[in-house]
Amino acid sequence: MSFSLHGIGVSGGIAIGYAHLTSNARVEVPQYMLDHKYLDEELARFDEAILSTRLELEVLRSHIPLNAPAELSAFLDMHLMFLGDSMIAEEPKRLIRETQCNAEWALAQQMDALVARFEEIDDAYLRSRQEDVVQVVERVLKALLGHPSHLPLDVDFDGERILVAHELSPADMVLFKNVHFAAFVTDLGGSTSHTAILARSMAMPSVMALHTARNLIRDHDLLIVDGREGVVIVNPDEAVLAEYRLRQNQWRIDTDKLKRLKTSKSATLDGTAIELLANIELIGDVDALKAAGAQGVGLFRSEFLFLNRDDLPTEEEQYASYKSVAEALDGKPVTIRTLDLGADKQAPWGHTVADNPALGLRAIRLCLAEPGLFLTQLRAILRASQHGRMRILIPMLANFIELRQTLQRIDEAKASLRKDGLKFDEGIQVGGMIEVPAAALSASFFAEQLDFLSIGTNDLIQYTLAIDRADDSVAHLYDPLHPAVLGLIHTTIRAGVKAGKPVSVCGEMAGDPMLTRLLLGLGLRSFSMHPASLLQVKQQVLKSHLETLTPAAQKLLKNIDPDKTATLLDRMNKAGA
Ligand code: PEP
Ligand code: MG
Repeated sequence: MSFSLHGIGVSGGIAIGYAHLTSNARVEVPQYMLDHKYLDEELARFDEAILSTRLELEVLRSHIPLNAPAELSAFLDMHLMFLGDSMIAEEPKRLIRETQCNAEWALAQQMDALVARFEEIDDAYLRSRQEDVVQVVERVLKALLGHPSHLPLDVDFDGERILVAHELSPADMVLFKNVHFAAFVTDLGGSTSHTAILARSMAMPSVMALHTARNLIRDHDLLIVDGREGVVIVNPDEAVLAEYRLRQNQWRIDTDKLKRLKTSKSATLDGTAIELLANIELIGDVDALKAAGAQGVGLFRSEFLFLNRDDLPTEEEQYASYKSVAEALDGKPVTIRTLDLGADKQAPWGHTVADNPALGLRAIRLCLAEPGLFLTQLRAILRASQHGRMRILIPMLANFIELRQTLQRIDEAKASLRKDGLKFDEGIQVGGMIEVPAAALSASFFAEQLDFLSIGTNDLIQYTLAIDRADDSVAHLYDPLHPAVLGLIHTTIRAGVKAGKPVSVCGEMAGDPMLTRLLLGLGLRSFSMHPASLLQVKQQVLKSHLETLTPAAQKLLKNIDPDKTATLLDRMNKAGA
């Protein structure tokens, strides 16, 4: 039967392929009693499922792609270890014998008991390991239920696969980055969650907030994913399929055409140069940055070096990563944002997850609370600064004390390097992210103290409008065009101009071609975005006339009615197009 689902299109393009469900075996677990005479058979069935899961994991481990992150192997090792633990491999058998229940039910019961135990652990990192236990158990359940493996890490792909999940974390996405999927769809998630940002950076059509996709879609269903419109069509008929194949081709042709803009100078029609930088998460993203012709890295989300691993990256390891980006950029600016863990990118060690993590010990707050961790990162960035044009960017600054302490820590890091006789760029620039309304309102102060500012609109919108950016139930209220948001962006840009300090936007607004002209009209001259949208933004820049945009943007700043805003924006985007 054909049907369609509607959610939030978070990354453009159209994909056509077969559904590949991540496991949600828990909700499918049957429960029944067994006659005594079948108990041995049931125990053998359980052992077989454990064995086949072990084999599956071992095959995966031996087929890890060469370019996969090192942590993938550690991740599979951990799952193998859990699988061998008697709590998973033996305890359910006791339940089968004692309660005469089926193997799936015994295992699900045991999983619930283990999760409850993990929940009681104070240590956030250890507590979060319950997710691994659940994943391992789900894999065994799938084997028991006769399902094919749910693994997102298949080695052989026959045709395009589309990942269907209830929810995906940014850490999951990093793993998927090295595995080919044509698209992904999820029940949960907002369009500026880090998961969505990663999907865009991978130029992968994706739809989130579908709510029921994981339940309604079956493994191997044929899917059309339209990431622009936020639509997923399940088992389309021939006519619909043919129509979407045409649209997919058109999309590819348009994307190819854009590539011609790669080498054109980025400037408006009146000749004002506009800087177009790239946001990257991993070193591997540098290829996409080059393919898009970005003028440098405006935001390196360094925290991704810290995800999907149990230990912390050492100074040497971080130094090697930053250095390789600096060298690859060959003199172009590389802006390393210091660790922004917390909220939807949880620290893999130590800290308890706060009740309200977006307002908790996140980003610079976490770094200031962990001086050793911060010093290691600062030393690594500073050392790498001798290999290119490195800049340091501080996330989530809100007040003077934080800024003063941060600058002190940077001075301390420099002093420790001098003492060790290690070289670094003495004149390295330090900038601050403006992503808390308090910082935007005090932008002139931050502009005076720092070398540059970068507006993180994803968080700025979240904190201004009190909308959790990862929560799809309030996604409709997440509004980049709210005059309060535009006002804060405008205030920050003006503060930068007044202090003679460059200001850029590195949140998702910068990569949305529908907002390019508006941001130009607000005075923005530097944009940083995931490479996948850079050429679309450049196309807008090349067609824009600043003279007309400034008064048009002023109108939007003063308007509170969303319908009128949509009309004004549309007019602005169509003018001269
Ligand atoms: C932002 O908040 O806009 C930003 C660029 O940082 P992140 O999305 O990583 O929080
Ligand atoms: Mg942010």
